[in-house]
Order: sequence, then structure tokens, then C-alpha cells
Amino acid sequence: MGFDLIVKGGTLVSEVGFARSDIAVRAGRVAALGKKLDERGARTLDASGCFVVPGGVDAHTHFDLPFGRTTTADDFKTGSLAAACGGTTTILDFATQERGRPLKQALEEWRRKAEGRCHVDYGFHLAVVDLPESRLRELDWAVRAGCPSFKFYMAYPGRLMLDDGAIARAMLRLQDIGGLASVHAENGGLIDVLVRRALREGRRAPRWHPLTRPPAAEAEAVHRAIVLAEVTGCPLYVVHVSTAEGAGEIRRARERGLRVYGETCPQYLFLSDREYRRPGFEGAKFVMSPPLRPEGHPRRLWDALRQNWLQVVATDHCSFNYRKGRGASKQLGRKDFSRIPNGAPGVETRLPLLWDAVERGDLSPARFVELVSADPARLFGLYPRKGCLAPGSDADLAVLDPRKARLLSAKTHHANVDYSPYEGRRVRAWVRDVLLRGRPLVRSGEPVGGSPGGAFLERKPLGA
Ligand SMILES: [Zn+2]
Repeated sequence: MGFDLIVKGGTLVSEVGFARSDIAVRAGRVAALGKKLDERGARTLDASGCFVVPGGVDAHTHFDLPFGRTTTADDFKTGSLAAACGGTTTILDFATQERGRPLKQALEEWRRKAEGRCHVDYGFHLAVVDLPESRLRELDWAVRAGCPSFKFYMAYPGRLMLDDGAIARAMLRLQDIGGLASVHAENGGLIDVLVRRALREGRRAPRWHPLTRPPAAEAEAVHRAIVLAEVTGCPLYVVHVSTAEGAGEIRRARERGLRVYGETCPQYLFLSDREYRRPGFEGAKFVMSPPLRPEGHPRRLWDALRQNWLQVVATDHCSFNYRKGRGASKQLGRKDFSRIPNGAPGVETRLPLLWDAVERGDLSPARFVELVSADPARLFGLYPRKGCLAPGSDADLAVLDPRKARLLSAKTHHANVDYSPYEGRRVRAWVRDVLLRGRPLVRSGEPVGGSPGGAFLERKPLGA
């Protein structure tokens, strides 16, 4: 039986490093690797001079997220197209529970938002904001429904935050049923007090956002989450670690043999709190939680990635326009930094930025693959279907052309948002071609068009 497609002449990048190998695809999956594969009847994709990497897995996006009476700038259609153009072929978004409503309703709602609109494959974490003892069984239901990972907010009291008792109760159940707990680790009570004090004192500009969310508020919450996880026996994943101290807590937990994992995001690696000193209101573009940190933190987060104290680079893509337009905009907080919608775009620039770190010598090519694809696939129950290019895996891949430097810019990106946090930054990797299950999504850097073909991924319980 012949192959449908052969990706030819490229340098394959995997968790063991570089290999000169062609990839044969049949029925959407990798069928064979090697040289001199039987080309009869197969299409070919010329990848000579290029790197071929497993399709990116972005474990942290927020598409079509409600904000007040509107939403984020990107929905599943535009957000997933931007993901594809950046070499990401799988996203995990957050289905957020409404207070007093069942988890099932949140999952159904988010599946509706994505159905027929997502260009890449997708799954959901369930963000639990309200879970009394009597409804704990809903966690079992969610695991059976293919969503074995959950998020608990330790910040945003009165809106999203769960207290320690509620998190511990959920963790006890999750360790029984193969679930994974993840946390937004910031001390919400402390931060609220600091924000109120700043506003009382007339401190209303964007630069007060990072000053009211100090590094210690993250480190303390990471430590507390680790204590809860250790005592309940539940595995823990800390999203968007932004500080050296937060990464240090995870390092110490791992050195003690705990199943504790950490994620950071490109913004915490490539940007710093200098952005808040931009003139006028421009700092609002960088208002996200946790905030960008002083120089020194990024350098130590790179160390943490190299040493495997942190395992994943995801984006927390949550896009709001800077100027007034469709959806909620950053201008809502013109007179009060605490009302600026939190979040920034990033789903399209993750692989290009991280590959630049490979070219610069800050990351090995093998570590790149682990951080952007293999480890998130493993942690979230998708490996080896996603996260690698081995016979039997989905033929999801990106062809990176190192001969074409690019300037990142809102003028050329595909996300539906009016600014880029990386405006004008030069990157050496150009995402030239992208395949999802063997089908072209991107050709010569542009989407091929056609109706969205992403599928819902039912994920296995952790440890299955
Ligand atoms: Zn997030």
C-alpha cells in the first residue's frame, strides 16, 4: 500500500535531536520514517534546508472568553488560524464554570463555541469556580468526558477564586480518578488589598498593575498549592509561572520526588516590566496576570526550562484590542488600571520565538520539542498521538525555514487583535508549512483556507 504524502529532504527535530529523515503519511498518520521511501502515487512536500518539528501543543489558550457583556478579540476561528500560522496544531482551552452551574454545562458551552470553527485539534481543561461537597462527582464525569485536567484560581476573590479547603477537597477526589489539578497561583486576598490601597492613593496608571501583584504573592501561592498537592497526593501543574521564586518552589518540590510540574509563557521569557514604563497608556498592552517581571526573572526562567524545573511553554493567549473596536478593549481601564482586561495575544508567536532561542544557543533543539509539544502532550493525556512524529502518531507538523528572518508585527499576524506585544522583533524561523493530520493548514506562511477541520480530543486520565 502506497503513501499519501512524503515530507522530503528536511531535518527532523525530535526529543533526541536532529535526524535527516523523510516522513511518509498515510490516512492522516505518520506511516514511516527514513530515506528512500516509496514515492509512487504520493504527493511530496519539499522540506530541504528546513527543520521539521512536531506540531505545537499549546496547553493554555482563552478563545471566545466572555468579558463583561463582550468577549476576547479572538474566537475559536481566528485564534486557531493564528495558532496554525505559528506552527501549533493542538490547543487546550479553558471551559470556565459559571457559579452554581454544573461543570457539564461549561463543557457543553465551550464545545459549542469550538465545534466546526476550530482549525486545529482541541481539548478543554475545566476551570472550576464553585464545587461544594455534594457535587464532587462532577469531577468523575468530566474525566470520563475526556477532560482529565482542571484549573483552580487562587486569585480573583469573589469571582473565580476557590479557597484552600475547596481546592484540597477537589484534589483528594482527583488523585483517586486520574485527574490533574492545575492552579493560577497568586495570593488573591493580598493582591486585592494592594490594588485597593493604590487606587485610594490615586495610583491609576498601568504601571501600578505589576506593583500590586508582587513576586512574593506568586511564590507564596505556588508553595501553598504544592503543600495541598503533597498532602492530598494529587499531581499538580502550575500555569504561567512568572518568577524565579515560583520556579524555585517547583524545583524543590520536584527534588523531593513530588509530581509537580510547571509552565511558563514566552512573555515572561522575552519581555520584562520595562514595558509598563512606555509613554501614555501603552503599558496597558502588557497588563496580564501575573504581570511581566523585572530583569533577572526571565534569565532564571530560562535556567528553569533548561534544567527541567519547568516542563512546558504555553501562551495564555487572551487577546483584547488596544483601541476600541470589537470586543472588550484595553481602553476600559483608561482611568483605573484594575479595570484593564487582563491578557495578551501569543498563540502565533510561540514557536518562532522559542526557535530563535535554539538558534541563539539558549535551548537545545531536543528541549525545544519537549517544551512546545512533547511534554504538554504527555502531561495532558495526548501522547504519542500528539507531541511526536513516530509511526502511528497524527501527522501534525510544522516546517520551519531558517533562511527567512521575519519581523513580528500586528500588520502581518493572523490573530484578530490590533497589536502585537513583540512588534518589530526579528525572528529567524519562518513557519512555512503546517500539516494537521496530513492535511495542509498553512502553505508559504499563509493559511490555505477552507472550512475548519479541527477535532475535539478526548483525553485519557493521567497515568492511563
Ligand atoms: Zn490563562
